[in-house]
Amino acid sequence: MTTTEASHGESRAFAADVAKLLHLMVHSVYSDRDVFLRELISNAADACERLRYEAIANPGLVGDDAKPAITLTVDAEANRLTLEDNGIGMSKPELIEALGTIAHSGTKAFMERLDAAQGDSANLIGQFGVGFYSAFMVAEKVDVISRSAGTAEAWQWSSDGKGTFTVTPVELAEAPARGTRVVLHLSEDGKAYTERFKLQRIIKDQSGHVPVPISIKDKPD
Ligand code: ADP
Ligand code: MG
Repeated sequence: MTTTEASHGESRAFAADVAKLLHLMVHSVYSDRDVFLRELISNAADACERLRYEAIANPGLVGDDAKPAITLTVDAEANRLTLEDNGIGMSKPELIEALGTIAHSGTKAFMERLDAAQGDSANLIGQFGVGFYSAFMVAEKVDVISRSAGTAEAWQWSSDGKGTFTVTPVELAEAPARGTRVVLHLSEDGKAYTERFKLQRIIKDQSGHVPVPISIKDKPD
């Protein structure tokens, strides 16, 4: 991993496997982009479930915000889709590891299969849970703002998915009180994902089994 201090924060390189996966994801002919929503909702629900589990031993973690929730906010004017959860959240090192430097098991398995499939990535993306990085199928930039449960600091991970990412501190007032906000700056291809009815349909089709309530809001004005 290379790290350089720049005025906009620390710029870090993705692990080689991650960079390769991202490149494939963006350039693949795979066309079922809807799956990005299933992946991000499943991560949000996992985070809520992890919090519930950790809170058994440490009830202080949930405080007076015990009801798990996933909230989507659409802003068609800004071409932006935001997903927020009040789950376990991520610390700075967790953001760096989970979203860039550790190729998690799904990524590893995908890359192995890809070598065997001699580059038929479109077919494989369909078969695998492609995870967080599928956000880059619809977004030209992704910001992840997270505050780990029980901590008093928040961090923002940002990337255009082209090889590097930054992690910078954010004011607590700008972050979720607990949990993670994923902001998708939609690309031309992703524009339609600010349409509420489209989102509702995809959620119904793909995420009907998710045990955390999901709501859709228009941008707060
Ligand atoms: P997987 O969910 O299979 O582990 P992903 O690529 O979807 O793979 O996510 C990678 C990791 O990033 C997760 O394992 C988790 O540690 C972290 N992560 C992603 N989204 C969230 C979130 N909303 N809240 C907390 N952690 C998250
Ligand atoms: Mg996942």
